[in-house]
Amino acid sequence: MTENKENQPIYSRLAVIGAGLIGSSLARAARETGAVSYVSICDLDPDVRAEAARLDLGDVRETVEAACRDADLVVLAVPVGAIGAAARACAPVMKSGAVLSDVGSVKGEMAQEMMQAADTRIHVIPGHPIAGTEKSGPAAGFATLFKGRWCILTPLEEQGEGYDAEVARLKSFWERLGSTVELMDTKRHDLVLSITSHLPHLIAYNIVATAEDMEQVTQGEVVKFSAGGFRDFTRIAASDPTMWRDIFMHNKEAVLETLGRFSEDLAVLQRAIRWSDGDALHDLFTRARSIRRSVIEAGQDVDVPDFGRVTKPGDDQD
Ligand code: NAP
Repeated sequence: MTENKENQPIYSRLAVIGAGLIGSSLARAARETGAVSYVSICDLDPDVRAEAARLDLGDVRETVEAACRDADLVVLAVPVGAIGAAARACAPVMKSGAVLSDVGSVKGEMAQEMMQAADTRIHVIPGHPIAGTEKSGPAAGFATLFKGRWCILTPLEEQGEGYDAEVARLKSFWERLGSTVELMDTKRHDLVLSITSHLPHLIAYNIVATAEDMEQVTQGEVVKFSAGGFRDFTRIAASDPTMWRDIFMHNKEAVLETLGRFSEDLAVLQRAIRWSDGDALHDLFTRARSIRRSVIEAGQDVDVPDFGRVTKPGDDQD
């Protein structure tokens, strides 16, 4: 009988560090798809560990070291600002040849921290699934979160023997979870995500703050008439404050570059409105509309009216 490789586990033992939205989804997805045979999971927060045990996310361990000692793949699913500390706790106890990866939304600084924590015995392969919701915590996770989503891996340069094979193996792991994998360098990742994810979140946080500050418009009116576009901003602005604080603290360079360009373009729009330059406004809005069509054609959203939409898991992607 021929062996069916499609059903074989890709790793024997997976350790997930951080049992929040992404970590719990990863633990669920890895088990449900048979991508691994065994999952250990740990979180610094004892309440989160208790919740992870109640949800049966895997073998819940009291310490990070205990969770990752025997693992073939360790994935850090902690906020970006905690990745360095988590890597320093895991790397020294990991077995030779094991892979240390992460799911952090910023890659440049995080890859550096992981590399500094690790020695040549283990393979560091940073990653970022472009999948998420505005919810946090273990109960928010679900096994199909990564299905039909991109996952970006940012392999390091000039690594030792066996590294490329481990990158290919990690790619197969994410593919088993339903993702499409793209390889990219860390700098490019941080620039691309600064415009597709980080800046939109900053704008959402800012527009909600502006609405809150507008004393002439009452809170009641803001809530009542929110269907006019504002509502979608409030959903994005409901994202986890710790996660987003960390993203802006650690992707400064790319975000400031993108924000500078955005501010210049905003000033052009401001001027067009002031001078009643309808043609300039119409041209820009027409170009924006064609980008929206490309997003739909690329399968990144569906072409349905937005009003009255019920927010589904997976609607918001980081
Ligand atoms: P989350 O729901 O807040 O979960 C993170 C968990 O990690 C929390 O329970 C946290 O505990 C715990 N933790 C913090 N430091 C730790 C450490 N050193 N060791 C072990 N556990 C630790 O966050 P999340 O949304 O899953 O995000 C996790 C990572 O995924 C972040 O790096 C984020 O950038 C990335 N990501 C998020 C999304 C998204 O949409 N949410 C999408 C893609 C990637 P405390 O609460 O006690 O700190």
